[in-house]
Amino acid sequence: MRSTWKDYDERDTLFARIRLRKGTKNYETYYRDKEERRQKDDPLRGDNFLQNLRESAAFKKKHLPLIEDFDRRAVRLHEESLRQRPAETKVDVTTEELFAFAKAAGACDVAALELTRADFYSHHGGVDGIRPAKEHGEPVRADYPRALIFCVGMDRGLLRFAPRFEALHATKEAYYRVAKTGAAVARHLQEKGHNALFTGEHHYIAPLVPLAERANLGQRGMLHVLVHPVHGPSIRLGAVFTDAPIAERKKPHVSIKDFCKRCALCLMNCPTQAIKPFSRDRPVFDEHKCYKMFQAYGTDCGICLKSCPFTYGIDSARLDEGRETIDRMVEEHLQKHGRIPKPLIKSPFRKS
Ligand code: SF4
Ligand code: SF4
Repeated sequence: MRSTWKDYDERDTLFARIRLRKGTKNYETYYRDKEERRQKDDPLRGDNFLQNLRESAAFKKKHLPLIEDFDRRAVRLHEESLRQRPAETKVDVTTEELFAFAKAAGACDVAALELTRADFYSHHGGVDGIRPAKEHGEPVRADYPRALIFCVGMDRGLLRFAPRFEALHATKEAYYRVAKTGAAVARHLQEKGHNALFTGEHHYIAPLVPLAERANLGQRGMLHVLVHPVHGPSIRLGAVFTDAPIAERKKPHVSIKDFCKRCALCLMNCPTQAIKPFSRDRPVFDEHKCYKMFQAYGTDCGICLKSCPFTYGIDSARLDEGRETIDRMVEEHLQKHGRIPKPLIKSPFRKS
């Protein structure tokens, strides 16, 4: 259990750490008493891993701009949303109406939570391209009492190509749809006179996986990310923070971890041994090993996502039937998809 709000500090996340530039004040201050971490982080610093994509120069010239465009458009949506102010007249909005709106705008699932200070990051880590770097280390303003947490599904057909470009495209395109959905929900709330801020890949004020776990949108599986009972780990998360008086709505609890303990396919297929067995029911993950894979392949890797049986659909009603049923479900998955599922479609990015 977390005891204080200081437990979530965005400066401690890998993406915040590896953006620190050597020789800057923020770098020196952050690593002053973290020598072991600095030694592990330094080799990951300053590399735009997309350039390491194992494709021809012509392929990269043609397709990498697509990826950069998803990022650019998502950042623009964040910036526009931050500039918008709530309408002067407040109009009631119900949780049900907001959930329906979020689903129509692209969410594949949604929940709502009451928040406390402990749910937010304590300090900004300068992860995104939206806040200026000087905000690194500034306290996060946690003045939103509620949040809508949602997920969007990734393109599972493209994910089967992991760790190639197609998987990277599936990831970035999904993050862009998170931004579109979040921006639409935030605008809807603002038009009804409520404060609203959406967060996604380029702008966070709170870690979303713990919020999604608390809302029962899924559980952190052995592969470390959130596993949704229907959509599996092939989702991306977003949130809209608001002062609108919506009611807390959690999803029914589904135990993913019992399945993980009999499965471990992500652990077996991970090329870097970044995924370890659970320790005290919590996933153990070596983020440096995983990120080195990103650097080596110039993609988001994604082999663990495409390995997970939940990516292909698991009958969650059977999860409570015990170990023998789960073993049968894993076996059924292996017979149908194999230990490392292969692509089923022709890549839209290749001639053959
Ligand atoms: S993304 Fe790749 S390297 Fe990272 S944990 Fe998953 S399988 Fe392993
Ligand atoms: S591949 Fe298996 S062990 Fe890994 S997260 Fe998915 S269900 Fe859990």
